Amino acid sequence: MKKSFQLNLKSQVKKTIAIMSSKGGVGKSTITALLATHLTKIGKKVGILDADVIGPTMSRLFALKGKMVGQDGLILPLTTPLGIRLISSQLLLDQSDDPIIWRSPLVLDLIRQFYVDVIWGELDYLLIDLPPGTGDVTMTVLESLNVDEIIMVTTPQEIVQDLVSKGIQMAKIIHKPILGLIENYSYFMCDDCHKKHPLFQTSDRQPLWVKYQLPLLAQLPLDAKIPKLIDSGKIETIEIESINQLINTWRH
Ligand SMILES: [Zn+2]
Repeated sequence: MKKSFQLNLKSQVKKTIAIMSSKGGVGKSTITALLATHLTKIGKKVGILDADVIGPTMSRLFALKGKMVGQDGLILPLTTPLGIRLISSQLLLDQSDDPIIWRSPLVLDLIRQFYVDVIWGELDYLLIDLPPGTGDVTMTVLESLNVDEIIMVTTPQEIVQDLVSKGIQMAKIIHKPILGLIENYSYFMCDDCHKKHPLFQTSDRQPLWVKYQLPLLAQLPLDAKIPKLIDSGKIETIEIESINQLINTWRH
């Protein structure tokens, strides 16, 4: 067990939730951002730590520009219009398309700084957007950042589920509780017949939440409106009923 990092005196976090998927491209960062916006709209104070240092997307999702600034030797996060406090390695770069090439020890050191040296203030929820995979960085974040619970993001595709299985097993090995699974791209709403159509061929395999006896927290559709709203910087206007239902079930 690695030693856990301690927040500074200007930061108090009630609950830390890591959003994890063992595969990239399943919409994990978007789901993190949507959980944050929906929680904020019910009056919670929320921060997002973008631990996907190599492929950061969080500041782009919120259309945030500008660089992080320091104060008394600590770092101030950026704040979205709704009031979400955000820290992302993207905010260290001059151009968002600059490639980030950092070696693993530097990545881990940066994430430690994002946790320890950022003035988070008082937060009800700190959401951590983990990098894809079950590598070194993911493991260190889960062990060192006082993560209370993990939300696993999956899709109906078998290849994704196989990788997410590995993530679930890893979480079990290090004794981190999994709050449940969110399945993304479960279906799309048909404009013609107004029915839900599955996006992927259904397999006869057991769904992951049955296999591992975990709660299915939400099934989200592929919705063409969402990327459009994100591209126009309006992610905070998106309302998703199943996410509202989900966070209403939490004991805050
Ligand atoms: Zn149809």
